[in-house]
Amino acid sequence: MQSAAFAGAGLPASYEALSVRPQELASRLDELRSGLWNGFNVTIPHKVAALELADEPDPLAVRIGAANTLWCREGRIRASNTDITAMREIIESARIAPEAPAVLIGAGGAARAALVALAEFDRLTLLNRTPANSRALADELSPGARVLPLDDPAVADVARAAKLIVNASSVGMAGGPAAGRSPLPEGCLGRHHVVFDMVYRPVETPLLADARNRGSRTIDGLTMLVLQGAASFSIWTGRDPDRAAMRRACERAL
Ligand code: NAP
Repeated sequence: MQSAAFAGAGLPASYEALSVRPQELASRLDELRSGLWNGFNVTIPHKVAALELADEPDPLAVRIGAANTLWCREGRIRASNTDITAMREIIESARIAPEAPAVLIGAGGAARAALVALAEFDRLTLLNRTPANSRALADELSPGARVLPLDDPAVADVARAAKLIVNASSVGMAGGPAAGRSPLPEGCLGRHHVVFDMVYRPVETPLLADARNRGSRTIDGLTMLVLQGAASFSIWTGRDPDRAAMRRACERAL
């Protein structure tokens, strides 16, 4: 995805995967200071430590407690979280008034960023297999949110009444613990819904297939993957990448 963006912009850059042990992270970041690299993405398990090691983390990354994009300016390591940039863009594009009821499924790292992006939604229900994890997240970031276990009998009605449904759990992810499944019971989606599934493998998850069949508007996880990558690219280069080329590269890789 990033290589396609660099090629499209005519920039002689490469994007490489580095295997980094936790104890090596600080010295890798020094390589940004020395100019060996122009920027990094970091992923699990380094997202929290990268934020803590940065000299100037941006406030949203601090609120989420994790960074995924690093770069250096004037000798100081900056850190940002472009998952939140992507989620905000997606939620804005859904054009749903924040007074409308919304549902967020999941309580892991992705849900945490989604909850920050959904900050203005004040009729929010959090659904999760382990409701205590959602409660802890809500207490910190969205105290007014309602919390329900994913298998609660009220879930179908809550989902039916919502306008926006965001799946930030790994239910439906190929190779994951709940592959081939939708987190919601059948028959609760309709034409009034916007359904955004962060899972991107498969691109059309069981939740999105159900949503499409019911006439909902759907947004897939690849859209978010590309948007967060595009936001990282813009940070590093000061340019807008060719997002369509990035998406095509992802589709080829998946
Ligand atoms: P995580 O921290 O491991 O959280 C996993 C979540 O899924 C938890 O809420 C967990 O519930 C729930 N879960 C796991 N197995 C389940 C099962 N069998 N039944 C019901 N719920 C189950 O993972 P994450 O980092 O938040 O990522 C979640 C998903 O989002 C992944 O598929 C990831 O690929 C995707 N994602 C996509 C993007 C993108 O750019 N599109 C970005 C980030 C993440 P408990 O609390 O009960 O354990």
